[in-house]
Order: sequence, then structure tokens, then C-alpha cells
Amino acid sequence: MIAVIKIGTPQSQVDNLIDWIESQNVSVHVSAGHYQTVLGLIGDTSKIDMELIENLDIVDTVKRISEPFKSANRKFHPDDTVVDVSGVKVGGGNFAVIAGPCSVESHDQIIEVANKVKASGANMLRGGAFKPRTSPYDFQGLQADGLELLIEAKKQTGLPIVSEIMNANHLDLFEEVDLIQVGARNMQNFELLKELGRTKKPVLLKRGLANNLKELLMSAEYIMAGGNENVILCERGIRTFETYTRNTLDLAAVPMLKELSHLPIIVDPSHASGISRLVKPMAFASVAAGADGLMIEVHNDPLNALCDGAQSLTPEQFDDVSKKVQRILEVVRS
Ligand code: PEP
Ligand code: MN
Repeated sequence: MIAVIKIGTPQSQVDNLIDWIESQNVSVHVSAGHYQTVLGLIGDTSKIDMELIENLDIVDTVKRISEPFKSANRKFHPDDTVVDVSGVKVGGGNFAVIAGPCSVESHDQIIEVANKVKASGANMLRGGAFKPRTSPYDFQGLQADGLELLIEAKKQTGLPIVSEIMNANHLDLFEEVDLIQVGARNMQNFELLKELGRTKKPVLLKRGLANNLKELLMSAEYIMAGGNENVILCERGIRTFETYTRNTLDLAAVPMLKELSHLPIIVDPSHASGISRLVKPMAFASVAAGADGLMIEVHNDPLNALCDGAQSLTPEQFDDVSKKVQRILEVVRS
């Protein structure tokens, strides 16, 4: 339920109302805009008498909202959230270009890719260390050693680093990871989400393979309900009946999520298509659709990559995409 307070209401009267609402075991999220204050009632509002609040002199309108996500909801937070990832801002007009290999494979590989993507305009470096592979016999990532190499690449380039966590027990290892990724397969690992909610670390939450947007936002809500509001959403394609592409990129998710939520939303055209030659057009389309950033897999030697070589761009291909993306961004912003 949200209550819009009449313009010009003295703060003391707003505070009295908040005290009364809180005495009903409902918490209040206050959104104080330039002109209007909006109270978001969070919790079990079923016992609150809506008409009673509506008839108060200081209340303009009261609305029950059906969406179960409160913290992620744009209704309570009209302005875009800007997530600060170690100095790199994402959202609210700030565009993230996250690039790097699917997996960290060696010192030379990650350092070479890090330097090249930086030179091409990436403002964050990605690299998987704990890999969620469909087969237990496939390369599982270099794990803790992979994170060490990624941290080394961060030291050399200054780029904030992004890596996927699969187990909350590994959180200590992620101390120096600037943006912790929750992969598609763990989008509904609620215990992991709750644990991340207890930190202040920025989280990149990827949409599950078969999850709708409400479920994605409810997963963001798990993190935010714990007190961590630093959530970036990621559309990475969903599973459909189509087999020519690895997943089906749901680009309408971008403007739809922007309507529903204030959180930044980035697109991963690499996992969405699974085919390197499709990454460029899908990256362009994502920017045109209003995405707050891109995450693109880049490998120095895609043919010999230990994971996801087929969808990885070479550094040269990435350079071309990255430069043209900036031109599309100019059009979108104009
Ligand atoms: C990844 O980004 O490396 C990854 C495994 O992506 P997803 O969880 O979207 O499949
Ligand atoms: Mn990958």
C-alpha cells in the first residue's frame, strides 16, 4: 500500500502518521521527493484500514498495490537507482561496459584480455572463477586461484572486477570482488540471496533461464529486504522452443523492468545468443532498448577457450562493438 501525502503537510504530522502505521506492525519506507512525500507501507497491510488513512486531512491518495516487490518497486522510488561499483556508476544515465572471458584461465590470459578491453572502453572486467557448468566433467573454473588472478588484473588495470558466486560460504573469498554476480542458475537460491542481502556489496543478479520478470524482481527483493540496495539486474535470455540460439533474448524486458523498477538493468548478449556473430547486433539492440550497460564475453583465443568460446568475441571484435555502442548511446540520450 502506498500513501501520498498532501503537498505542504508539516513534517510533524507526517511523523505522527508514520508512528501510527508502525504501531500496526507495518514498516514505512519514506520517499521524500522535491514536491511530494510518498509513504510505502511494507509488511502485512491487510489489517490496515485503507479508508481511515484516505480520510486523513494530510493524505492525498492511498493505493493498494498488487506487486509483492516493495523495495525494488519504482512506485516507492521514482528516481533511477545508481549503483556505485568501486567508483564506476551504473544506472541513471551511467552506462556500464563489462567485458572479459567467461572463465579466468591463466595469468597471461586474464591480464591480456583485461588490458585490451580496457583500451577499448570497458569500465569493468568480468571473469568466472567458480563456474556453473551443466556437466560435472567440464572445466569448473580455477576457483580461488582464479579470483586471485582477477584481483591481479584489477591491480594492473584499475578496472573493478565482476565474478560469480555459487556458495555463500565463499563470501570471504569475494572480499575484493567489486560486483558479485548471481548467475541465472542461482537466481532463486534464496539462502544465497539472503546472505548477499546482509552485505553491502553490489550484486549483479541475472535472470533465471525460466523465470519471469516478477520472479526476477522478487529475487532482487530478497537481497534488498536484507538491507543491501546495491542490485543491478541482468537480462541474459530465457529458454524458449527456439533452438538456433542458445537462449532467446527478451529485449522487451529492458523497458518493462524500467517501468516496474528503479534498479539498473544491463544486458548480456553473449549468453543470450550463444553465437559470437550475433553478439554485436544484440548488443546494439540492447543499447537502443535503453539498457544501462552490457556484459560481453571476450577471449584472447576463443577457439581454444575452456568455456563459452563459441559466443566469445576477440578483443578486436569487442573494440568495434564498444566504439559503435557509444555512438548508439548518443542517439538514445539525445
Ligand atoms: C556467466 O556469466 O558466466 C554465466 C554463467 O551466465 P549465466 O548465469 O547467465 O548463464
Ligand atoms: Mn559464459
